[in-house]
Amino acid sequence: MGAATSPSTPLLIPQLRRDYPDVQFQADTYCHWDPKTRTVYYQEAPEAVADILHEVAHALLDHVDYTQDIQLLAMERDAWHFARQDLAPRYAIVIDDDHQQEALDSYREWLHARSTCPSCSATGMQIERHNYRCLACETSWRVNEARICRLRRVRLLK
Ligand SMILES: [Zn+2]
Ligand SMILES: [Zn+2]
Repeated sequence: MGAATSPSTPLLIPQLRRDYPDVQFQADTYCHWDPKTRTVYYQEAPEAVADILHEVAHALLDHVDYTQDIQLLAMERDAWHFARQDLAPRYAIVIDDDHQQEALDSYREWLHARSTCPSCSATGMQIERHNYRCLACETSWRVNEARICRLRRVRLLK
């Protein structure tokens, strides 16, 4: 709000509202997508336009939920691809490759950390949504819930 508001965000949001009337848009402190209420939460900041389009991509691709961590990574990749190839040109926005890669890298690191066996460091198999098992030493471990698009914001806040 106020001085931090980019001229492009106030222009972009009404356009998006008009183009996607079945998606709700609401200002927040960071960008995220809530599939339950079909709401894109957006940050009113100049650097947020790429992330806003990314959240709209989740909405248009109907990204609701996932059961395997690898699916979350795939959804993130698809949403960035769609935002960059299909949405950005329509709104005269350029999403640079570094921005997209940085976002996806945080998911790759996250997936690697979750799937690494705490006993022997082999790569485990996800057997349930919150459980991994190591095929090398048979250790099982629990992992926490992860939400769409939250990871990078969490990391940046550290
Ligand atoms: Zn192991
Ligand atoms: Zn995302």
